[in-house]
Amino acid sequence: MWIDLHIHTTFSDGTLTPDEVIATAKKSGLCAIAFTDHDSVDALDNYTDSLGLEIIPGTELSAREEDKSVHVLGYFIDRKNEDLNGFIRTLKKARVSRGERMVEKLNDFGIDITMDEVRENVTGEILGRPHIARVLLNKGVVNNLQEAFSIYIGNDKPCYVPKPNIGVSQVVKVIKKAGGIPVLAHPIYLGNDRLIFKFIDEGIEGLEVWYPAHGESDIERYLKIAREKNLIVTGGSDSHGNLGSYTRIGDFKVDYKVLVKMKLRS
Ligand code: AMP
Ligand code: ZN
Ligand code: FE
Ligand code: FE
Repeated sequence: MWIDLHIHTTFSDGTLTPDEVIATAKKSGLCAIAFTDHDSVDALDNYTDSLGLEIIPGTELSAREEDKSVHVLGYFIDRKNEDLNGFIRTLKKARVSRGERMVEKLNDFGIDITMDEVRENVTGEILGRPHIARVLLNKGVVNNLQEAFSIYIGNDKPCYVPKPNIGVSQVVKVIKKAGGIPVLAHPIYLGNDRLIFKFIDEGIEGLEVWYPAHGESDIERYLKIAREKNLIVTGGSDSHGNLGSYTRIGDFKVDYKVLVKMKLRS
């Protein structure tokens, strides 16, 4: 029995609709999935049939700490929760003004791109860098999506604009208020384990250990931290659909036992 607890849809920066995600997961033999769109819970209200799959309500909220982008997954959240939805509205708005600033920076760099073109690529209400990257690709400014990040809009690249400084502690509070379990996503991208311990002190209850970019030694280290700190262990593909180099649904599977343990703790 296999599951995937980290999936993006067209309601953030994925390329598959929730229905397409479900159909793909079903074909891949998964029995449970979580929708974890960036700063959104919209996918949860926008699928027609679960095809017998267990759908776990989730989200992946954006925080910023020490000039690093930090992602916090929230599982079993109440998607109707007012605080959560208010918080998400703020994040959505901030993403639009950030998008405008990135477009301006690209223009300053001599690249012909408009906010309207970016908007046309946004399939939900979440404007993310992948949408800008897709415009750059469609216009032939770059040869592939990766290049858009490595030259222009990747972290620390000249046209990058960071998101607001919203701390992990605030994001954790919002998720808990909505009845969810806050889980630190892909800890490998933090670059050091010191921050993991800081976030545990701030209320993180789980660690995303099973993740495509984690090597064997990373997994061992994270499992040890999880054991010592009594954290929930989760995992998923972080699938963004069928574009670029992202891991596809079904190419990375997690044991159903992980979900059983999560439920025992929720
Ligand atoms: P944003 O939330 O707007 O900062 O965009 C973050 C998203 O951009 C991530 O979830 C990935 O989907 C994508 N992304 C970030 N860095 C890269 C990269 N170097 N290559 C490809 N995609 C990336
Ligand atoms: Zn993404
Ligand atoms: Fe993430
Ligand atoms: Fe993700």
